Amino acid sequence: MNEIGNNIKTINKTLTGTAAKLVAVSKTKPNTSILEAYEVGQRIFGENKVQELSDKYEQLPKDIEWHMIGHLQRNKVKYIASFIHLIHSVDSLKLLKEINKQGEKNDRVVNCLLQCHIAQEDTKFGLDEEELNQLLNGEELKSMKFVKIIGLMGMATNTDDESQIHKEFEHIHQLFEKAKANFQSYNVDISELSIGMSGDFKIAVQHGSTLVRVGSSIFGARNYA
Ligand SMILES: *Cc1c(COP(=O)(O)O)cnc(C)c1O
Repeated sequence: MNEIGNNIKTINKTLTGTAAKLVAVSKTKPNTSILEAYEVGQRIFGENKVQELSDKYEQLPKDIEWHMIGHLQRNKVKYIASFIHLIHSVDSLKLLKEINKQGEKNDRVVNCLLQCHIAQEDTKFGLDEEELNQLLNGEELKSMKFVKIIGLMGMATNTDDESQIHKEFEHIHQLFEKAKANFQSYNVDISELSIGMSGDFKIAVQHGSTLVRVGSSIFGARNYA
C-alpha cells in the first residue's frame, strides 16, 4: 500500500471506538495524493481556499464530501454553495446570511459549523461565547431556511503545553454541550464538534471531537510559496 494510505489506516486505528471521523486536509496537495487516500476508502476531504476547492471538486470523483475549513470571504460563497458538504468556518451572521442566500439560489440547505475562538492567540478567527449565544438566539437565524447549523469548530493554541490544549478543547466541548441543550430548532441541530489537527487530534478525541481535521500527518509537510 502507498504511504498516504498507510497513514490513514494508522489514524483510523487511533480513532476506533471514538466518536470522531477523519477529515483529510488536502490543501496544497495534488490530486494524485488525494486519489491515494481515496483508494483506501477516504471520502471526506478538507480544503481552505475556495479556488483550490472548486478545482478539486471539478476534477475528482463526485462521491467525495468536500469540507471548507478555512476562513471564508462572503464574496466567494457563491463558488462553493452548489456542492459543499460542510462549512466549518462560519464566524459571523453576515457570512451566514450570504450562505443562506446562495443556498436558496441553489435550492439546497448548506450545513455549517460555527467557529469558536478558544485559543490564546488572537490571530485565530471565531466567535466568543457571547457572540455564539447571540447568533444562536437571534431572530435572523430563525428565518434562514437554506442553512443548517450542525455544530461547532475550534482551533487550539499552537503550543507544546498539552495542559493548555486540554483546557481549550474542554472549553469548546462545554460550549458544544450547552448549545446542544439550549438551541435546537428546524435549522439548528448541534451534533458535530470539529476539533483536532495533526498535532493535537489525540487530545481532541478525549474532549468529544466528532471531526478531526488532519493534514500533514497524512500527506506530509506542506510547502507554502
Ligand atoms: C491546515 C489546517 C488543518 C490541518 O493541519 P495539520 O496540522 O496539517 O494537520 C486543520 N484545520 C485547519 C483549519 C487548517 O487550516
